[in-house]
Amino acid sequence: MNEKIFEAIKRASALLEEKGLETNMASLLMEFVTKKSSASLLADWREPLTEEQQQQFWSQMHELLSGKPLQYVIGQESFYGRLFKVDANVLIPRPETEELVFEALKRSQLLFHDKAISVVDIGTGSGAIAVSFKKEWPEANVYATDISEGALAIAKQNAEALEAAISFRRGDLTEPIADRKWDVVLSNPPYIAYDEADQMTNSVLEHEPHCALFAKDDGLYFYQQLANTLPPLMNKRSLIGVEIGYQQGKAVHKLFQQAFPNAAVDIVQDINGKDRMIFCKTCE
Ligand code: SAM
Ligand code: GLN
Repeated sequence: MNEKIFEAIKRASALLEEKGLETNMASLLMEFVTKKSSASLLADWREPLTEEQQQQFWSQMHELLSGKPLQYVIGQESFYGRLFKVDANVLIPRPETEELVFEALKRSQLLFHDKAISVVDIGTGSGAIAVSFKKEWPEANVYATDISEGALAIAKQNAEALEAAISFRRGDLTEPIADRKWDVVLSNPPYIAYDEADQMTNSVLEHEPHCALFAKDDGLYFYQQLANTLPPLMNKRSLIGVEIGYQQGKAVHKLFQQAFPNAAVDIVQDINGKDRMIFCKTCE
């Protein structure tokens, strides 16, 4: 007889605890394997696993026990209310970035109403920002870029699965989007300084792509490049929104204010009260 749902969860939680890993990953994995909500998992806790479920659960548990993030094990993460496919080519989209999308939509609405604006997400990774923006603002012409072929492949799959018509371009920062002007530019670039690696968890450091995380010049490199190259690419009325590290507010504010002397540049906090975004608004 196979294990019952609660027996498997109990045994798995104990193994996770021994390794100092999050014990609630056992129930989250069980929800995925049994395709049950957390509520029905509780109601059905005495149900035995099928042979197939038992095998899948324990094989994926072993991946979790090796320190692999749950999202890579199950191949998905939810972002802005939708499920995105993820693999080792892309950063697991973070809740902070949902706030960037929310703030960008709010500010774009005030600036442009519901027009067919042109929007680009630079360094799209899984496509989380670009796809969410397009789903929330269907009239927008949304582009997404990345330097990583592997990331673009995943982003394209997500756009297709979520039925978001997006134009993808591969290349370095603004290089693939320099042929036209933009209303909205969004980016969550790599922003972790190399010397911050020792403060990061092993699950991030050993499993997420380093080209999605780290940036030279104390993590400011990509903001410097964007501030240098974006001014001729923005329409007169425009919005730039970037995610930042919580200690980078002042430095990134300065870079954009220097690049756009007449713009309104704001540092915006996340729900934890940490500096997390910079918005740069230009008007005619
Ligand atoms: N936008 C996704 C998100 O918010 O979840 C991914 C963000 S991740 C922090 C940064 C992304 O920038 C990665 O997908 C990485 O491949 C990409 N990237 C790194 N260097 C780049 C460059 N020079 N030009 C364009 N994209 C780059
Ligand atoms: N927020 C991510 C982390 O803490 C980093 C994302 C980024 O560099 N843009 O791991």
